[in-house]
Amino acid sequence: MMKTTFKLILFLLLLFNAAFGQESKKYLIKAGKLFNSESKTFLKNQFIFIEGEKIVKVTDSDDITYADHEIIDLSKSTVIPGLIDSHTHFLFMQGSGANMEVDLIENSDDDRLLRGGHIAKSFLSAGITTVKDLGNSGQYLDVTLRNAIDKGWVEGSRMLVSGPIISPPNGQFGQLPHLHKNLPAKEYSIVRTVDEARSAVIEHMNNGVDIIKICATNDNGLVLSTEQMKAIVETAHKNNLKVTAHATYDQIVNDAVMAGVDGIEHGYNISDSTLQLMSEKGVYLVPTDGTFDGYKGIVEFSKSNITDDDIKSFVASTKQRLLNAVKAGVKIVYGSDLYLYTPRSIGIEAKNSLVSYYEAGIPVNEVLQIGTYNGAFAIGKQNEIGVIKSGAFADIVAFEGDLEKDFKNLIYGKNHFVMKAGVVFKKP
Ligand SMILES: [Zn+2]
Repeated sequence: MMKTTFKLILFLLLLFNAAFGQESKKYLIKAGKLFNSESKTFLKNQFIFIEGEKIVKVTDSDDITYADHEIIDLSKSTVIPGLIDSHTHFLFMQGSGANMEVDLIENSDDDRLLRGGHIAKSFLSAGITTVKDLGNSGQYLDVTLRNAIDKGWVEGSRMLVSGPIISPPNGQFGQLPHLHKNLPAKEYSIVRTVDEARSAVIEHMNNGVDIIKICATNDNGLVLSTEQMKAIVETAHKNNLKVTAHATYDQIVNDAVMAGVDGIEHGYNISDSTLQLMSEKGVYLVPTDGTFDGYKGIVEFSKSNITDDDIKSFVASTKQRLLNAVKAGVKIVYGSDLYLYTPRSIGIEAKNSLVSYYEAGIPVNEVLQIGTYNGAFAIGKQNEIGVIKSGAFADIVAFEGDLEKDFKNLIYGKNHFVMKAGVVFKKP
């Protein structure tokens, strides 16, 4: 009797696991051309063995028994690790030219979460399998969305999240009408003192964030003091969290770097001496740049009155800053910072940044490393994501054709393949 009951329980357990897709699937991917993101090289005719959510082997010989593997033939494609966009805002959208508070007034937290799921799916569909989501997500809505994606309730890119941006008073809002004076406190983690700076990091940690984002300066000219930034970095590093700083002009970039941050977001104006300092200290730069065509599309779509000349001069200046940073030996990490309404799906438009690096003159193999390995390395996860090697998550993207030779056409994707953690999300 005992034995029968035991057997029945075992059977039900197996049935339960099968129903929820828990059995680990085995795949063999035949890659015509494979990008090795660590060495920045392309290898021909490689075989990738996958079990469950991980890659178990990458080899150039197929004389291994793989009868129990499902074969995915990508022999006419270029296979790369899933892209990592290190600067997103899945919980926030803004009309070009509109004030940032509009989104928060018009949409509830629930609206933002559901829309965030939609955006996350768009990014995954485009081949961006991981993102670092850097705030403007209410009070930890990003943690909720990340967890829902991890549990498989929502299909989307793997998220690493910052929680509310730690910021000086008023966050990144402009002049707010009296009625909406409470918005900064709902959207940011406002600090006024060194003690508040320290406890903000602890609160973020207790809420389960993956990274700390600070707004070193806001548009109102308010800044976090060097002492506040130092306190944030010290507390974060003690708890194994990296710190990245929104910093736009040279002086504040310099202050943030001296305070010990790990990365700089945007950095539109950085002097050669500050770039040198970043290079020496190993501080990475996330150039959230776009292409002329990309900006033009967004401007036309939103009927904004920004002129072609405005776009041209902005693109020219970001390009120069990028090349200066590369020349100084600063590690570059891909980030789109795309939170505007776009003509094409937002995940596809997010790849404009990669194309802008390419158009600035950076070779394809470097651009692909910036879009994969560097984003992982910046947060110490280069054995898990951004690579195709044994032990890493099976985050694999492929583009039909030769991506090395036809980058600009193929990278936006059409007949492309997307797998995240061993699960096929999109087939050509
Ligand atoms: Zn941003």
